[in-house]
Amino acid sequence: MNFVVLTLFKDMVESAMNTSIMGRAIEKGLINLDVIDIRDFAFNKHNRVDDYPYGGGAGMVMQAEPVYKACEAARKRISDMTDIADLASPDNGDTKALEEKGRTRLIYLSPIGRTFTQEVAKELAQEENLIFLCGHYEGIDERVLEMEVDDYISLGDFVLTGGELPAICIMDAVARLVPGVLNNDDSASDESFEGNTLEYPQYTRPEEFMGKRVPDVLLSGHHANIARWRREQSLVRTMERRPDLMEKVELDKKDIKFLKEIQSEGRFSD
Ligand code: SAM
Repeated sequence: MNFVVLTLFKDMVESAMNTSIMGRAIEKGLINLDVIDIRDFAFNKHNRVDDYPYGGGAGMVMQAEPVYKACEAARKRISDMTDIADLASPDNGDTKALEEKGRTRLIYLSPIGRTFTQEVAKELAQEENLIFLCGHYEGIDERVLEMEVDDYISLGDFVLTGGELPAICIMDAVARLVPGVLNNDDSASDESFEGNTLEYPQYTRPEEFMGKRVPDVLLSGHHANIARWRREQSLVRTMERRPDLMEKVELDKKDIKFLKEIQSEGRFSD
């Protein structure tokens, strides 16, 4: 999977992405990361890429031209990475696979975008090539956004100083869905938001910490009971902390029985 990030703060992106699991994924070649400094495309001697907003108002706006050139450079890097020209040789009959390889989605990180969720992470993990455009100041000249952007994504209903942190979060969430990035691929399939529930509590050694014991069932070695306990804990946590998710949870007969029981104990009102 290829990620290209367009930013004014290259170090911030590179240092976050070259750490821990992401760093190893890059080292192993499972993820290619290329970070482009938008300032390299400044067209004035002071290397400025921002200017005052037309119509007045607070703050500065990133200019269209350097952003446009950075986007074009990113598309070129992607095509170099995927080597589309080689793939497109007449011997290669699989045009569908080819189109997939060449497809690129350019994402502008912005509070006006759709909100990022695990579902969106899964959707993006289907792509081969993602370009992340990080804004700064008051944002970017609308004209270049209209020309270049395929998708607008927000990290949530708050305003950050730049798009770098959202880009890093999104790349992290997407990359860990790429096969091989996590040591155990199961760990991504047994987590919060899988099946719309939150994850059950986790414990590790020692069995007792400051008088608090690990639940007996987890020490029993009885796999079916452990799985049932975890499922029930997931349901309880989701009801307590994210009741909005409950209507999307697929419940089996045992789940329904369990939920009825805890409701009759008066733990949840409905
Ligand atoms: N004036 C913009 C507005 O009101 O929507 C906010 C600009 S913000 C200070 C600067 C940059 O940070 C944005 O261009 C965007 O790239 C990034 N940013 C800020 N909040 C974000 C969020 N919640 N999600 C994604 N990107 C965000």
